[in-house]
Amino acid sequence: MNLHLELLELRKTEKRITSKILDKLQEMENCKGYLKSGYSSLFDYLVRGLGYSEATAYQRQACVRLAREIPEIKQKIDNGILSLTAVSTAYKHLRRKPLDEKRSTLKKLENKSTRDVKRMFLEPMKPLKVKKSEYSDKVCLRLELTHEQNNRLERLKALKSHKWDLEGLLVEWIDKELKSYENIKFKRSSSKNPRQISNRLRNYVLKKAGYKCQFPGCESKHFLQVDHIFPVKIGGDQRQSNLQVLCAQHNQWKGSKFSMPN
Ligand SMILES: [Zn+2]
Repeated sequence: MNLHLELLELRKTEKRITSKILDKLQEMENCKGYLKSGYSSLFDYLVRGLGYSEATAYQRQACVRLAREIPEIKQKIDNGILSLTAVSTAYKHLRRKPLDEKRSTLKKLENKSTRDVKRMFLEPMKPLKVKKSEYSDKVCLRLELTHEQNNRLERLKALKSHKWDLEGLLVEWIDKELKSYENIKFKRSSSKNPRQISNRLRNYVLKKAGYKCQFPGCESKHFLQVDHIFPVKIGGDQRQSNLQVLCAQHNQWKGSKFSMPN
């Protein structure tokens, strides 16, 4: 067969498979089945469970989330009218916008190239952006600032220049923040209320858990909460042996299991 025709055929198959994957991911997101398997979010599942790169996982997640709100975009993605890049870029910039605005912006992104899509979003107000890359021996952070934020940083650097460069400033700030937490003199909680956990105990439990979710398989370090293993409502107390660290997603999931009638 002509090589070009063969590739056209494969491309069709690729589109069909991508569409099918998005449908299944939608199902997964709706039932939150990834929580049970130890993943803290759909994104976590896409990266650790399905082996997608973070960038592709973000794209897939964006499509699933936006298609849930605006179901008609799914067909447009399938037909190639909206690219996955367009959808994920729109998702990133429109997350907190009203539905009407999302819809009208997505309409403007139809049949646009990646470059055009990116250009359309060039001038939004930019929050502080940090890009993190982890290697076995180091972690690289790339920090994006607006000019105004950078001016403020320059001012601080000028004020401290006799003492620190930028790296020094950052490390000093981290150490100072950490110390301020470690130095707090915690009052021993005299409360009889088992829902009340003293700061000292909370910090101990978090430290012991390595500052990550203890749900089997989950490695989330975000939105951590100290959870009563045996819930208070069935007689659990605030002893250390009854406490564990869960990410908000797993804590909520566990709560929903306990509140379900058997
Ligand atoms: Zn978790």
